[in-house]
Amino acid sequence: MEAGRVQPVPRRVLSAALRHLPSVDRLLGATGGAALIAAHGRMPATEALRRALGALRDDVLAGAAMPPDPAQAVLNAAAAELDRPDALRPCLNLTGTVLHTNLGRALLPEEAIRAATEAMRHPLALEFDLESGGRGERDDHLRGLLRELTGAEDATVVNNNAAAVLLALNTLAGGREAVVSRGELIEIGGAFRIPDIMARAGVRLVEVGTTNRTHEKDYTAGIGPDTGMLLKVHCSNYRIEGFTKEVEAQELARIAGDAGLPLMNDLGSGSLLDLSRFGLRREPTVAEAVAAGADLVSFSGDKLLGGPQAGFIVGRKDLIARLNRNPMKRAMRLDKIRIAALAAVLKLYLNPDRLIARLPTLRLLARDRAEIRAQAERLRGAVAEAVAGFDHDVELCDCESQVGSGALPTDTLPSAGLALRGPGGRAPEEMAARLRRLPLPVIGRIAEGALILDLRTLDRDEDLLTAMQRLAP
Ligand SMILES: *Cc1c(COP(=O)(O)O)cnc(C)c1O
Repeated sequence: MEAGRVQPVPRRVLSAALRHLPSVDRLLGATGGAALIAAHGRMPATEALRRALGALRDDVLAGAAMPPDPAQAVLNAAAAELDRPDALRPCLNLTGTVLHTNLGRALLPEEAIRAATEAMRHPLALEFDLESGGRGERDDHLRGLLRELTGAEDATVVNNNAAAVLLALNTLAGGREAVVSRGELIEIGGAFRIPDIMARAGVRLVEVGTTNRTHEKDYTAGIGPDTGMLLKVHCSNYRIEGFTKEVEAQELARIAGDAGLPLMNDLGSGSLLDLSRFGLRREPTVAEAVAAGADLVSFSGDKLLGGPQAGFIVGRKDLIARLNRNPMKRAMRLDKIRIAALAAVLKLYLNPDRLIARLPTLRLLARDRAEIRAQAERLRGAVAEAVAGFDHDVELCDCESQVGSGALPTDTLPSAGLALRGPGGRAPEEMAARLRRLPLPVIGRIAEGALILDLRTLDRDEDLLTAMQRLAP
């Protein structure tokens, strides 16, 4: 027999022990059970007790010792399960990725939060014309703002930009062909792939050009009697460098116009402002894409724009009307909460000078390294104290943040933060896991054997201090 192996308990003894376990009903009747019902409701309490009891029975059958007070042990386990904090709770994103898709992308400005809260709390004229007392349209709350900000004739809004692309393809080229450059057949995270979206939209893909070079003549040769539209897609999360050629939006608009076909330009992130004034790479704005002659331009609400998840399509009035008549549109429409939040975000763009102070996404992107480094210096001592019990040390470090969400993928933003290292270069995974389990989870990034907390996205020092205080060895 192997050393240290537990002697099997005879079956007879086991079943006698299990018989002493309390029933769910008895536990519900006990003081502890009544407290669980009062705090969480009868059904959740009953289910949690049933699970805890089952788990204890399985443990005992597997050879674990019966706790001295089984009823209390089951009540404690059920309480622990019911008290577990929700996974969908606030956390600190110190990953260095400002628009982190897995952490919910853009943080909304206070104006949008207020508008969304009001929309949740009160009836509102969502599809109701206050002038005439007749029916209104929900998109009307955004249409005027989008026209003003982009210079487009008209606009419509759907659940996200993936939906915007699907809707436009299906409406303009369903049952027909769409011409796209090979270099733009991209995959965005979360299984959004242009060829798949096209197939689901009922559109036949005609790919033209090569991966690195597509010429005007490629597009012209790709257009045939069955072509429904031309599509241009922003490469978002990758960049081809070297011997490359793409047909500029303006030139492509001319080719489409000559053929009497609509051109849609999917900008992906899109931006309503030239971000180079905040030190970011210059990208065509939505207004520029419209001015370059695209018949439709689509972009996201929760990427660089800094609002809630949404997909915008702006452009020609007759085409927008066709999109709105497609029954798919009804399945993709926004709810009142997001419409209210989006309207508030778009209104901020009417005053670009105030924008950076009001819009969290831009404010975080625009922070410079000196300011973030000063913050890291302020916080180093307290963070070092919090992790001292784990034998970790904490150093100031320079690091590079990313915009995220596929926007400006090759550009990084000089940033600073704190690097946590264990003794003897112990893997930082363990500390990373500890920080994730805090009541206010702290999510960092592991790089070069250290856990890096990039402070670009830490708005308030107290948040990190409060979170770290709960770190007990
Ligand atoms: C991100 C992106 C999409 C998808 O936008 P969502 O709002 O995330 O649905 C579509 N096209 C491009 C080019 C993108 O970058």
